[in-house]
Amino acid sequence: MTGMTARIIDGKTIAADLRSRIAAEVARVQAAHNFVPGIAVVQVGDNPASSVYVRAKAKAVAEAGMRAFDHKLPENVSEAELLMLIGELNGDDQINGILVQLPLPPHIDAQKVIASIEADKDVDGFHPLNAGRHATGLAGLVPCTPLGCVLLAKSVLPSLSGLEAVVLGRSNIVGKPLVQLLLAEDATVTVAHSKTRDLPAVCRRADLLVAAIGQPEMVRGDWIKPGATVIDVGINRLAADGGKSRIVGDVAFAEAEKVAGAITPVPGGVGPMTIACLLLNTLRASCAQHGLPVPLL
Ligand code: NDP
Repeated sequence: MTGMTARIIDGKTIAADLRSRIAAEVARVQAAHNFVPGIAVVQVGDNPASSVYVRAKAKAVAEAGMRAFDHKLPENVSEAELLMLIGELNGDDQINGILVQLPLPPHIDAQKVIASIEADKDVDGFHPLNAGRHATGLAGLVPCTPLGCVLLAKSVLPSLSGLEAVVLGRSNIVGKPLVQLLLAEDATVTVAHSKTRDLPAVCRRADLLVAAIGQPEMVRGDWIKPGATVIDVGINRLAADGGKSRIVGDVAFAEAEKVAGAITPVPGGVGPMTIACLLLNTLRASCAQHGLPVPLL
């Protein structure tokens, strides 16, 4: 592979394409069935990173022709008040999806809040019922980031069947659900984490390597099997010159692109796909709630 550089997987363009297909389907269901998918986005406090994500989500929802209902609660809101709001949203027919922006302040039990969301409106796919459905092969809502990772991998690989896939990270929101998705695609899946011995050797087995560890540029070029597909989920903010900051992934991109067959950039890879998949989940949830077939797109 000397002298070759990896194909860049352009998450922005792939996400824009998915979003336009979603917008077309939203317009079609509105014309044919007279409803507009709606999503409630609940934010507690004003963590600046969360506010950026919430604004980006609201904009994408509007551009897809869906309705966004934003609920911004003060940092000191009680758990009981938050649970009461979710109860109201669960019972509101206009709202097909409910998203509670994480992290929540420490006085609120995030697991309890997630479990209080009606599972069929859980467009983040974090509810234990959806995690269980997913793990046992039943239909349910799938977390957006892992779904985006699989769509990006499939944009460059005709099939994931039989591939050696290594997932770095085992969180409930990325690593674990990604393992289930890759198994469903018939990949041979290894999941590695902070207690894994000889991480570089494990990574070098991968035809498909997905890094979701939150460690800036930890995956080096020589951890990558020549020609492998690399999906970088990490979003790490590093201080840069002049008080500015820059975002890097979990993979040392400049080294990796000399070895990999295809790689996602950060930013512009997984991030845009996560939002597109949130729209996809909201559309799917709204169709299911109206007794319509779930669009595959
Ligand atoms: P978590 O912190 O919840 O989980 C991190 C995982 O990585 C854990 O399983 C941890 O292992 C493992 N890990 C941490 N350090 C190491 C290490 N040195 N070696 C091996 N494994 C390690 O993170 P998330 O899953 O929520 O997120 C991961 C990254 O993805 C973050 O950078 C986050 O910002 C980003 N992200 C990006 C999204 C997007 O849309 N692009 C969406 C969500 C997250 P252990 O379990 O043993 O502790």
